[in-house]
Amino acid sequence: MAAERVGPIPLEFRLCSACGIPIYVHVFLVGFFVWRLSDEEAAAKRSQGLPNYRKATEIALTCSISFVILFLTVLIHELGHCAGAKLVGGRVSRILLWPLGGLAFCSSGGGAKGDLLVALAGPLTHAPQYLAWLSLYRLAVHSQEELGSWAPTVRGLCHGAMHLQIILVVFNLLVPVYPLDCSQVIISLCRLCGASQRSAAYFMVALSLLCMAVLLASMVGALHLPVLVFVFGHLVRVAASLVENPCPVAAV
Ligand SMILES: [Zn+2]
Repeated sequence: MAAERVGPIPLEFRLCSACGIPIYVHVFLVGFFVWRLSDEEAAAKRSQGLPNYRKATEIALTCSISFVILFLTVLIHELGHCAGAKLVGGRVSRILLWPLGGLAFCSSGGGAKGDLLVALAGPLTHAPQYLAWLSLYRLAVHSQEELGSWAPTVRGLCHGAMHLQIILVVFNLLVPVYPLDCSQVIISLCRLCGASQRSAAYFMVALSLLCMAVLLASMVGALHLPVLVFVFGHLVRVAASLVENPCPVAAV
């Protein structure tokens, strides 16, 4: 997500800098990781009865690596927004990572084309990330003997990372709710079609409220969405097939 707000958010702390951009992390993200780790360990303990320290260590390691993968994936996504902003001569302030994802505090400088490029630059980073994880997956498949008992874990982590790229692209580009990237794309397209900034913003607010109402109605069972379910079902099937068959060229 890209945002223009610059003011500090309570309970955030500066972690490091990347490409000269300050990276902030919210305390709730650390809490989320601790909760996930304890939840995974508790689930394993429930299913196995007596404590198994080797398994507990394996779960802790896998959970930590998965968290690092998620952290880096979102960070690269936000750096993509910042790179897009710099490319069109805009302003980049900082990046915040929190439990709901990431926020890149940057702006394009005001032009609709620039805003569109900044909005698309984040999701575009998932294509090279997907290819990188696909290469690692293939490497893990060809190095099964060297990896030994860790081979399934490494393959699983690569699978998960590839799946994550697809989910983030679908979520960011197909859900028209502010402040997801899709909303900025729609606002930019409206402006490119001649609408004023104010009209495009009002349209996006109305669309966001409509989408949230429809999704909430669907969640409580008040509304069935066969078309939406079909589209998302198809996307999930495509994502699943990509994950199940990560070497489509070889398969052909
Ligand atoms: Zn984004």
